[in-house]
Amino acid sequence: MAARIAVRRPRAAGDDPVDSTGRVSLLELRGLGKRYGAVTALDGVSLAVAAGDFVTLLGPSGCGKTTLLKIIAGFVEASAGDVLLEGRRLNDVPAHRRGIGIVFQNYALFPHMTVAQNVAFGPRMWRVPRPDVRQRVEEALALVKLEGFAERLPAELSGGQQQRVALARVLAVKPRVVLLDEPFGALDKNLRLDMQMELKKLLRALSITALFVTHDQEEALTMSDRIAVMERGRFVQVGSPIEIYDAPASSFVATFIGTSNLLPAAVAPDGRGVLLGGGLLLRVAPGASQAAEPVRVVIRPENLSVQRERAADAWPGVVTVALPLGASTVYEVELAQGLAVRASEPRVLDHGLLAPGEKVFVRVVNPDACRVFAPNP
Ligand code: ATP
Repeated sequence: MAARIAVRRPRAAGDDPVDSTGRVSLLELRGLGKRYGAVTALDGVSLAVAAGDFVTLLGPSGCGKTTLLKIIAGFVEASAGDVLLEGRRLNDVPAHRRGIGIVFQNYALFPHMTVAQNVAFGPRMWRVPRPDVRQRVEEALALVKLEGFAERLPAELSGGQQQRVALARVLAVKPRVVLLDEPFGALDKNLRLDMQMELKKLLRALSITALFVTHDQEEALTMSDRIAVMERGRFVQVGSPIEIYDAPASSFVATFIGTSNLLPAAVAPDGRGVLLGGGLLLRVAPGASQAAEPVRVVIRPENLSVQRERAADAWPGVVTVALPLGASTVYEVELAQGLAVRASEPRVLDHGLLAPGEKVFVRVVNPDACRVFAPNP
């Protein structure tokens, strides 16, 4: 768990905004909207973020993630709504007085300045008194483990080291909140993993609250205390990674986080479950949908088991693809009438893999873990 800081404010008990877990919030967004001419980039976004939390904004390109960060940072003015930090409205506070730092993907270090000069740029922008700047630079470079690099130029650093300098530049201003817009987008996978771990440790140690933007759902699942899934300028679900994964609020969320089988179906006339293509029965509660209504069913691949032996309620099929991933194997199985599903089987030592062309039976391990949605929720 991330470290928490108690937030004290001169307000009556019970007045404090709280986040969805009941904790007092440090950062609060209230009904934020943004229009660029005819384009609605944000539409009524509200969120309460507790001190020390790591919240990730996840959503497709153009859904408004960067616009939201820019409004919080003070680079873009909202068309509607408020940003509050410790209960104080920030809308009219200039960016450098907000106590909020921002790190972009294209971290834009100044090529002609040394690492130390680049890091000093942050505190200078924030009008930190000159004598303090040097100490802040030293501290920030120590935090990102670049003590020996102060006099190098950015061109003399690796991509990961440059990203650390960008982070140090923000940490040197000692922000309460840091906004990170795809900060690892330019890094290769291994470096990205290292940086993710380093960043989480660092923010936790410093009790810095973070709002993080990524396109990478794995990164969102591993890094976040909470994820806010965005679609067309709105939050469609906010919850812990596991809540979002296990109980997606819509088929959009289900397909955006993790791999899913999203299958067209219809509620069985006798209400026993839903019928997939070819009349395959899945014994699952049909939600609010009525008998014979079309629905879409989401089944996670790990909730499907592929076996050679017939089992109760199992569907017959033929393996079309077998992808060994080491600890597990992903199978694509064609069920009746061209309906295909993906299943992820944990590998059992001494058991051979199923081969493409083999006849198999696919069983839903836990029907209650499947989700049923109206066709266009
Ligand atoms: P990406 O993941 O591709 O970076 P995003 O979710 O960060 O996307 P934004 O950059 O916030 O999305 O853009 C949201 C919407 O607002 C998009 O439709 C975009 O075209 C539009 N938009 C963003 N900035 C401007 C601008 N300065 N003028 C006009 N439209 C803009």
